[in-house]
Amino acid sequence: ETEAGMLRWVRLSVFTHAHSRQRLVALVDITEQKRVDTAKSEFVALATHQLRTPITGMRWSAELMLVDETEPLSDKQRQYVERLLESIGRLNTLVDDFLNVSRLELGTLTPEPEPVGLAELCDAVLEEQRARISEKQLSIERDYDPEIASITTDPDLLRMAIVNLVSNAAKYTPERGTVTVGFARVGRDVSLTVSDTGMGIPIAEQDRVFEKIFRASNAAQEVPDGTGLGLYIVKEVVDVLHGSITFSSTEGHGTTFTIRLPRSL
Ligand code: ADP
Repeated sequence: ETEAGMLRWVRLSVFTHAHSRQRLVALVDITEQKRVDTAKSEFVALATHQLRTPITGMRWSAELMLVDETEPLSDKQRQYVERLLESIGRLNTLVDDFLNVSRLELGTLTPEPEPVGLAELCDAVLEEQRARISEKQLSIERDYDPEIASITTDPDLLRMAIVNLVSNAAKYTPERGTVTVGFARVGRDVSLTVSDTGMGIPIAEQDRVFEKIFRASNAAQEVPDGTGLGLYIVKEVVDVLHGSITFSSTEGHGTTFTIRLPRSL
């Protein structure tokens, strides 16, 4: 009953019998499943997008309370408002993650390449994480290759990837640890590295870190806050930018993530 000219999604599976050369080939029409998936992603994209406006409103009002000199807050009130702002910040990260995942899954994130200064971008991301970095007294090291002024890529997507890696490095590194951010030329590509001296990822769990909503056991125990969406987003974004991502990690010692990108998209 397929309508003429209508595109359908099909899953092809091949099963091989262990002791003979026989194979079973199955074709399953998954058009309906794809349609439901898309509808879900569209709903999440719409819902989270709508949540942004009230979150911005809450942040503005809370910030105004802190700076309003005509009616200064008591110490206690100030503390409450600061806590409120922290929660708003967490809510914002959640909404961003949900929105980005749904956009990536809908395929509506198309890269818009332009010249991007890597040093400026990395500095801006570090600046954005300043609160957590100074709270935990982390040392920051910059390992920027002066030979590369800029590359041609999508600045917003690349920023999204680096923000996730740097905020993970800061999140999963104990007080007074070190976070290193750097980039270097590798042939026709550039490699961007974010490494830390943090808790690391247990070896048995390493092959799952890029899965959606996966969190390693040590991280989940020590840092209850987290969605397990960040690295999934990074992986998808790096894909869209025609790059690749790898990491090495030793539990209790630290982790290094490396993104490799073409210097021109
Ligand atoms: P989240 O940080 O919200 O848990 P992510 O997708 O960003 O989600 O990361 C998935 C998991 O990978 C984390 O829960 C943690 O177990 C592990 N991980 C990521 N980055 C680091 C890091 N720098 N050091 C140690 N573990 C990390």
